[in-house]
Amino acid sequence: MEKITVFWFRRDLRLKDNAGLYHALKHSHYPVLPLFIFDNNIIDKLENRSDPRVGFIHGSLDKISSVLRKSGNDILIRQGQPLEIWKNLIGEYDIQSVYTNRDYEPYALKRDLQISDWLKTKGIPFHSYKDHVIFDKDEVMKNDGTPYTVFTPYSKKWLGKLESRKSEWKGESIPYYLKSYPSWEYSHRFLKTTPFKNPTLQDIGFLSNNIPIPSPFVKQGIIKEYDKTRDFPAIDGTSKLGIHFRFGIISIREKALKSYYLNKTYLNELIWRDFYSMILFQFPHVEKHPFRKKYEFIQWLNDVEDFQKWCTGQTGYPMVDAGMRELNTTGHMHNRVRMVTASFLSKHLLIDWRWGEAYFASKLLDFDLASNNGGWQWAAGCGTDAAPYFRIFNPESQQKKFDKDFHYIRRWVPEYGTKDYPQPMVDHKSARERCLKTYKE
Ligand SMILES: Cc1cc2nc3c(=O)[nH]c(=O)nc-3n(C[C@H](O)[C@H](O)[C@H](O)COP(=O)(O)OP(=O)(O)OC[C@H]3O[C@@H](n4cnc5c(N)ncnc54)[C@H](O)[C@@H]3O)c2cc1C
Repeated sequence: MEKITVFWFRRDLRLKDNAGLYHALKHSHYPVLPLFIFDNNIIDKLENRSDPRVGFIHGSLDKISSVLRKSGNDILIRQGQPLEIWKNLIGEYDIQSVYTNRDYEPYALKRDLQISDWLKTKGIPFHSYKDHVIFDKDEVMKNDGTPYTVFTPYSKKWLGKLESRKSEWKGESIPYYLKSYPSWEYSHRFLKTTPFKNPTLQDIGFLSNNIPIPSPFVKQGIIKEYDKTRDFPAIDGTSKLGIHFRFGIISIREKALKSYYLNKTYLNELIWRDFYSMILFQFPHVEKHPFRKKYEFIQWLNDVEDFQKWCTGQTGYPMVDAGMRELNTTGHMHNRVRMVTASFLSKHLLIDWRWGEAYFASKLLDFDLASNNGGWQWAAGCGTDAAPYFRIFNPESQQKKFDKDFHYIRRWVPEYGTKDYPQPMVDHKSARERCLKTYKE
């Protein structure tokens, strides 16, 4: 058997500027076999058998495969329990080393530890690299070595670190941490193979879905004008790159570099992304519990009918309803409206933020545990850097400020203003008082 190295793709589905892939191709001594595993521990939990995210992953792997096939290589795709897959693979190939990019979610950390420990018993080293974020979980810390829990000082330190080192790239001086990993330049080092018989989407138990996926190509104007347009949901003023960052279709370094020169407000959003990834790693209890533990004891009402009205966009608050209908139809919701809907559920309806978090997780194309959890805990007032609990979004004032001509609302709630539109399910003033009383207790 030929000796090989395996590069294990996960949330980094691209061949260019891929840190772990670059190291595998450049530094390992053997031809590199690319691998992807549809992990049953993850996909078995998805209720929707037409979940567009599975189709999206499958389609992205297809693209990688067709590029590789052109030069006599391919990506091997398997489905099952990752450890079982690895046990089978070492019977099929003489694997000398495994390379991958780090994934910081609690389940992924556990899985990777189990697999790297097992590979070690077989004498196979497991190399993992930073690729998903600009700064890793422990690269931006307070002076005393503890993690930040407030965003603003974190972002200042983050920017300071970014600017502390320069590098030459394509003849230009750029921040060292944003330099590209030219993985594709070493593509001659992929393992030569006949095309694999990889599973179809149906083989792995899913159907295709025709929900449109936002383009990975953003008009430059959007990033340039981002600080002026990003808060208005009726405008096409945000990048909609969430899903592409989530699955690593595009390189975070490449976009951070662009925004570093074009628009610092956009860069700031990418810092939020690093921040929440760091928080999830450093404080893994946030996955299931409030960051601030005293908020564990809020007496939620958890009314199932109220929750249904929220999910289906029938609350009688048009900004909330427009957001939920946008989410249900497109798998996307504008950030401003995510804040309004999340606040409304946890504060006006006193429904446990974890219910809303799970609903978003099932629907958002760009669902990412760290950012979704961070966003929900922020809105519910129990997270890091949260708005104090007594600051409660008024959905009507939010509409007046950010959709004053009702363009966004009319797009998603055409019956707004007619007798077919429901009355508000709760009165803002009394819901606010109820929330304050409950949170205080
Ligand atoms: C309740 C709630 C839930 C959220 N759930 C998610 C989620 O599951 N996945 C997710 O990626 N973002 C989440 N966000 C953050 C933000 O709403 C989305 O990243 C953004 O709306 C995605 O649209 P876009 O790609 O057009 O973003 P843009 O405005 O164009 O921003 C560019 C990128 O920056 C990152 N980003 C922007 N804002 C944030 C933020 N506040 N926190 C972390 N990263 C950010 C994202 O990767 C985004 O794609 C959530 C926010 C809230 C309030």
